[in-house]
Amino acid sequence: MLIAVVGLQFGDEGKGKFVDYLSGNVNNIARFNGGANAGHSVQYGNIRVSFSQLPSSLNKKNLYICQGALISLPILIREIEFIQRENIHSNILIDPRCHIVLPLHAELNKASEKYKGKNKIGSVGVGIGACVEDKSNRHGIRLIDTLDKERLRSKLKFLWDIREKQIKHVFNGDNTLDFEEMLEKTHQYGKRIEPYFTFTNEIIGDLLNSGEDVLLETSQATFLDNSFGTYPYTVAYQTLVQTCFAMIGIPAQKMHIVGVMKSYMIRVGHGPFPTELLSELADYIRERGNEYGTVSKRPRRCGWLDLCLIKHAVKLNGVTELAITNTDVLADLHEIKVAIAYEIDDKIVCCDDALLQFDRVKPIYKSFKSWGKLKESYTSLAELPIELIDFLSFIQDYAGIPIKYISYGPDRNQTLVIE
Ligand code: GDP
Repeated sequence: MLIAVVGLQFGDEGKGKFVDYLSGNVNNIARFNGGANAGHSVQYGNIRVSFSQLPSSLNKKNLYICQGALISLPILIREIEFIQRENIHSNILIDPRCHIVLPLHAELNKASEKYKGKNKIGSVGVGIGACVEDKSNRHGIRLIDTLDKERLRSKLKFLWDIREKQIKHVFNGDNTLDFEEMLEKTHQYGKRIEPYFTFTNEIIGDLLNSGEDVLLETSQATFLDNSFGTYPYTVAYQTLVQTCFAMIGIPAQKMHIVGVMKSYMIRVGHGPFPTELLSELADYIRERGNEYGTVSKRPRRCGWLDLCLIKHAVKLNGVTELAITNTDVLADLHEIKVAIAYEIDDKIVCCDDALLQFDRVKPIYKSFKSWGKLKESYTSLAELPIELIDFLSFIQDYAGIPIKYISYGPDRNQTLVIE
């Protein structure tokens, strides 16, 4: 069966921890979307490692990068080298049809963000958006294209000419890259990845047909989906979990979906954020929750939990159970608030409607009493402070699905599993 971990907010909900946790009994872990614009951090022995291309679960696992994932070659190679250096016994399988995010894409991204000025999206600048554009315009470069240098030269040249004109003459920017260097590096990197090339759709399809479990690590999160999120402040592709079928290349089927949410909201980059806190409370949450981007290190915007979004994300993805993280971060506050409805012009609006004019939304809050500092470890729900239990029960009732995991600290073990 397919088991998926999906973010119910704007990303960085703590998905890595649950992929790691759920992978305990699963030998096959796959990524099928996004690229090096998302990072998942996991504890490996004494080291904290951040992965943005390989699935964040290691050791004696088959790690798949499926067709829909976008590859930044130097980053992928760095992660593979880490695995080799640390003697981690993982088997890596990469679909040769994955598109490559080139330095040219990053250059384009920078130039287009600069051009957009105050309307910029606040992208992390890796170049994913430009890579997706080239993929849909049918002049993208795939992993398989890197192997034959002369074929690569001709494809890259075609792309380079179009994109350089755009950087210079549309966005009034500079292309500081050297064509020959980009060609040579892309070819060399591609050759290094070649031993891992596999048609991952075939293998994953066969595994599922024979009753094996495959764990999916989604990148980004529900409201960064470019159709159902806060468009245009989204990523360039769809992030809803059901896109996995087309991205891997397998038929639609029943899935077990764990939706991960923080007990408050965070957002990186631009875009409307109705429950955003602009007071010292935001600084308090940011410092206690270490809310700085995994990849970009940018301070994250912080706000109260928006349950309207959570409920909507549960419906959009078909989430079967919830995992809630960072409950420790809200401890010791005077009061905790949660958005339970939206108003626009004094009228209650539904979430679909609100998302179309998200900058105009006024949240309606319910207040909760805060809980005191949490202990290092808990073994049962009954040991949790009553205020936290009340908070969690409300979330569960509102979302209409059970909370299965309660995370109360960064450590892998600081997670309570509700049986
Ligand atoms: P992802 O992008 O959704 O995968 O988020 P990550 O898993 O990369 O990052 C979440 C960060 O929060 C990591 O540094 C985790 O160790 C940390 N984290 C996860 N759960 C908790 C929690 O319950 N409390 C605190 N304080 N930190 C947590």
